[in-house]
Amino acid sequence: MPPKNIRTMTFTKLGLPQTLVDALADEGYQQPYPIQQEAIPAILKQKDILGIAKTGSGKTASFALPILVNLQKIPPPVNRQPQVLVVVPTRELAIQVGGVFQLFSKVLPHPVKVVTVYGGVSINPQMMGMNGVQVLVATPGRLLDLTDSKALQLSAVKILVLDEADKMLNLGFKEEMNRILSLLPDQRQNLLFSATLSPDLDGLRLIMMTDPVTINLSVEEKIDLDLIEQSSYLVPNEKKGPLLRYLAKSNAYPQILVFASSGYRADNIADKLRKNGVRAAAIHGKKSQSARKKALQEFKDGALPILVSTDLLSRGIDIAALPCVINYELPRSPKDYIHRIGRTGRAKKVGMAISFVSPEELTHFKMILKKNKLWMELIDSSLLDLHGY
Ligand code: AMP
Repeated sequence: MPPKNIRTMTFTKLGLPQTLVDALADEGYQQPYPIQQEAIPAILKQKDILGIAKTGSGKTASFALPILVNLQKIPPPVNRQPQVLVVVPTRELAIQVGGVFQLFSKVLPHPVKVVTVYGGVSINPQMMGMNGVQVLVATPGRLLDLTDSKALQLSAVKILVLDEADKMLNLGFKEEMNRILSLLPDQRQNLLFSATLSPDLDGLRLIMMTDPVTINLSVEEKIDLDLIEQSSYLVPNEKKGPLLRYLAKSNAYPQILVFASSGYRADNIADKLRKNGVRAAAIHGKKSQSARKKALQEFKDGALPILVSTDLLSRGIDIAALPCVINYELPRSPKDYIHRIGRTGRAKKVGMAISFVSPEELTHFKMILKKNKLWMELIDSSLLDLHGY
């Protein structure tokens, strides 16, 4: 059964008029997607938006629908002066986005004139088609050709949408985007969409908007299990320390990221390693920001052989060529197991993930394996000579 808020959320509750809600139902849009739930009310209130979301998330409707509603309330445009400018990286996307505007514009009391322009086709018909344009969907190059030839003026734009901004930056449209921004009035609503966050995008966000509503639906990182060799030891709790030191001193792995179940445990494990002559640091939420930064930097630079962490570091963190991850204590959720081991086996380099499983943790470990559809042999640690570790 879907969570309550998703089950009960409707396009009507988001503030869309009944004519649009009916048209959406005709198109098979029964319930708003997550990005629509957040973006539609904010755009209706004329807020700026930074939306991190991929194609397929329903982002086109998330901006097209509230823009169409807001356009119903403002006077018709002056000729050749669009009120809404949607800039997209490709011809295909231009056609698709323009189509969504057109589809839902038809049912409104004041239908909106939508024009779509892109390069690679004759510019003349596009120049002629600018009369009365309200929403202009354009690729950057062709848009500038049209403004350069005075077929169009951008000084009346009230709403700017940059869709797939990261792709535009990757395709080398940075100059064009800056030129387009310089042609727009300062007072406007800005809607910036991108599949990913990048430094360039951050720069764009800074020049475009001050306090946007941020919606982050970026999908979780891809972890390549084929690059991660996984093994596990059945080991009583009191032997986990010696087993860790045995592996650390075996020199098999120049660097190891060790996961513990709490900050307290992480400190404790790192202390014991140091007492036994192994350089190690702990990192967790209760450490100061500067201590965390220093430990992580040293580890990333290869200066620190062992870093002991809580699940603070289990997601997203990229440590170049990390050879080994050890689950000193198992994570609570099967998903976290995958995130933890995904710190290794990155950038096409093979890595090792080892889990220490105490007899008390055995049932939980089997559940983690089952949920992740994994199988691995459990090595009995009593077969190892841990004496002196
Ligand atoms: P987009 O991410 O905007 O490219 O949309 C992806 C696809 O999802 C398109 O085919 C839309 O027609 C469809 N779509 C968007 N929102 C909804 C919704 N709330 N319910 C069903 N389909 C949707």
